[in-house]
Parts: sequence; C-alpha cells; structure tokens
Amino acid sequence: MKARKIFLTDDEIPRQWYNILADIKMNPPLGPDGNPISPDDLAPVFPMNIIEQEVSDQRWIDIPEPVLDVLTLWRPAPLVRARSLEKALNTPAKIYYKNESLSPPGSHKPNTAVPQAYYNKEFGIERITTETGAGQWGSALSFACCQFGIECNVYMVRVSFDQKPYRKSMMEAWGGRCMASPSNQTEAGRAALERDPNTPGSLGIAISEAIEAAVNDSTGKTRYSLGSVLNHVMLHQTIIGLEAKKQMDMIGQYPDVIIGCAGGGSNFAGLAFPFVQDKINGKQIEIYPVEPAACPTLTKGPFVYDHGDTAKYTPLLPMHSLGHAFVPPPFHAGGLRYHGMAPTVSQLVVEGLIEPKSVTQLDAYKAGVLVARSEGLIPAPETTHALACVVDEAIKAREEGKEKVILFTWSGHGLLDFGAYDKYFSGQLQNDVLPDEELAKSEKVFENHPKPQKLKSR
Ligand SMILES: *Cc1c(COP(=O)(O)O)cnc(C)c1O
Repeated sequence: MKARKIFLTDDEIPRQWYNILADIKMNPPLGPDGNPISPDDLAPVFPMNIIEQEVSDQRWIDIPEPVLDVLTLWRPAPLVRARSLEKALNTPAKIYYKNESLSPPGSHKPNTAVPQAYYNKEFGIERITTETGAGQWGSALSFACCQFGIECNVYMVRVSFDQKPYRKSMMEAWGGRCMASPSNQTEAGRAALERDPNTPGSLGIAISEAIEAAVNDSTGKTRYSLGSVLNHVMLHQTIIGLEAKKQMDMIGQYPDVIIGCAGGGSNFAGLAFPFVQDKINGKQIEIYPVEPAACPTLTKGPFVYDHGDTAKYTPLLPMHSLGHAFVPPPFHAGGLRYHGMAPTVSQLVVEGLIEPKSVTQLDAYKAGVLVARSEGLIPAPETTHALACVVDEAIKAREEGKEKVILFTWSGHGLLDFGAYDKYFSGQLQNDVLPDEELAKSEKVFENHPKPQKLKSR
C-alpha cells in the first residue's frame, strides 16, 4: 500500500530554525522620532533574549533542548497525502499537507508559544500578557506558560469571546486568565469603548491593551508576547517547513506549489520560508499566502510603514497594511482579522517571491466542507482559506492535465468553531466585501508616515 502519512521519529526533529533575515534585505522598524529603533527601546516589552533573536541575521539558530522536549509532545508533525481529496476532485495533482492541528491547543501556534515561554522564563519573567483573536493564540500561550510555570493573561477580541466561549475554558484549563477586549482595565481599552461601546473589538485594540498591561506592571517581571507578525515568530514556525522538506525528501518529492492561509503570516511563513530559500537559489516554486477578501491586507493594502496596534504603542513596521485603526467586519475566521502582515512576508511580496491570493468566506467554507467530507478532518475557519486555494489549484491541474505537487499547512482544527459552521449550514453566512471607500478611509492613518524603500535582495 502506498503511504498516506510520512512520519519522522523524535530523533529526526530539526535542531535549528531557519532565519530568512540572512537571505533578504529589510527596512528597519522605526521609533516615534522616525529613526530606526534600538534593541533597548523594546526592553520594556520583550525579554532581551527574544529581542536578540528578533534582530539576528544568523541563518541557522539552535533550538534549545528544553524547547525540543516540549515540542516532542506532538512533533514531528506528520506529512499527509490527501489522497481522498485528490480522488474527490479527480485531479492528477499530488496534494500533501502538514497537519499542525495535532498540537494540544489544536493549531501551529504552540510552535512559537513554547520557545517564547521558555525564553521569558530564562530571563526571569513571571507573567506574560497577550492578545488573542479566535482564541488559538491565547490557548497556545496558556499551554506553553503552564509547561514552564509562568502566569498568562489574555485579552481576547470581543466578537470571538462571545462566539467561542470554550476557548476561554481551554485557557483556564491550562491556568491562563482570559478577558474580553476592549476591556475597561487599560487606557487603550477604555478609549476604544468610548469611541464605540458596541465595538466587536479588533486584534489592533487587543494588542494595545496587552502591551499597556505589560509595560505598566511595576514589578518589572511582566512582558508581552505576540503570536504572529514578528521576525522571531516566523523563525520559530520554520520547524514546519524544515520537517516537511525532510519528509518530502524521504518520498522523493518536491513541491511545485506551496499554500498557507495568512493572518499575520506565521503558519504560511513556517511552511514556506525554507522553500523560499530554495527559490532564492533558483528553484521554480509558486508560493501563495491566502487571505480573506474581507481583510485583504496583502492583495489590497499598500506596502507602508504602519503601527502593529490601534493605540500606536508599537514601532512603525514596514508591511502591507489596511491601517492600524482598521476594524474588519466580524467574519468567522478570527485568526485572519489582522490589519497588517509580517514584515518578512510583506517584503517577499514586494520582491515578487510569493504571490498573495484572497478568497471569500463562502468559497472558503465550501472548500472546508468538501475537504471534511473526503479527508475527514474538520478544518479551522482560517485553514479553509488555504483549502479554497488548494482546491482551485487541484482543479487547474486537472484542466491542464498536470501532475503538480501541492503542499499546504493544515493550520488548525475546527472543533471549537461549530458556531460558524452552524451559520454556514443554515445559510446565515454571507460574503463581506470591503467597499473601496472604506479602505481609502482606513488607509488615511499612514499618509504622513515615512515610506519604506522597495528593496530587492537579488
Ligand atoms: C492564528 C491562526 C491563523 C492565522 O495566523 P498566522 O500567523 O497567519 O498563521 C491561521 N490558522 C489558525 C488555525 C490559527 O489559529
């Protein structure tokens, strides 16, 4: 029988992360005065060992042994051949995915939560604050903090807090604390509530709250943690692609197409970056980050300097952005409702090394259900966006009669997302499209910011 799943043993887990900063040029983050920030500027927010990683341009970085020890609770993750889906689509394409839904919280996010909790602990930090959209990051960090004996406080975007109450229970099971954002516990939260008492909240607002709570803690033992966007997060996630490469190698395959859904960019980057390195060195690969049409950061947002949060606490980051005050419509893929995008992923778009796509909510769910009915697993709403693109590519391969190899990340399961599935099945979900006027308005916020250079690394 042909293998459906390709496993690595615990001993074969990658021992180093791949740092794409060694291979591309980047605009620096800027402080309030318009000058590049220094590591010291970030010291109230992150522990110094993480800041050093954030700015490192060393190509390979060792994964600490205690981190590997926790990661092997569920890693290496299997590479799965989606044979049933291939059959359902009658496609000559070979479809493979990395199943990242097998971690304890059910997504790829603990790949970075675990090292972040570890580095904070090493630095003497006792409490971490963070935000969460759909609740995946909050639960991943609660799990990781629990492994290393640190407290975890989570600000959860209001709309998801209401839609997905069991994510809070999951955080509590691992000892985390979860509050709806905007809350009245921070200045940023109170300001947001004053602007709109019925706001669904946004990741931008929740990030402001979590940073404020960390920086204002007088003990000096609290730091903030971010689950996507930043360089060190992308770095930690490359374990996905490095494993996938070994696994594809074992069966003598190499991908023609790489696909991942993109909110802040981390699961996509995790799979794609080790292959982007090959592309920089001459390989032919199509690489697609996929985002929701209702929050089209890469496909419609310009490449600018913008803040990562609504209250402008973060430095100016060079990225594709819809504007730091952007509040997306309350569609059901909380993890993809972010106004910005990882600067590294944004830079690769600028350089034409990767090509972003967007899909509507209904097309995403349609693909999600089709895949659930063939492969069995029920995908997270975020993952369905990647699936819509995978299905399109597989159909294209059929029409062109090409035996393409497609590789994607199954970023998480949807077992706590049945509220959204219920709405889809009862016909209550619709396609939120973003009117151009709305976009033009939200993009006004960065009009006066400095402009990043369109650097080329090759
Ligand atoms: C958070 C999340 C995403 C989006 O975040 P990225 O940083 O873009 O990966 C996608 N899928 C799942 C399941 C998530 O939890």
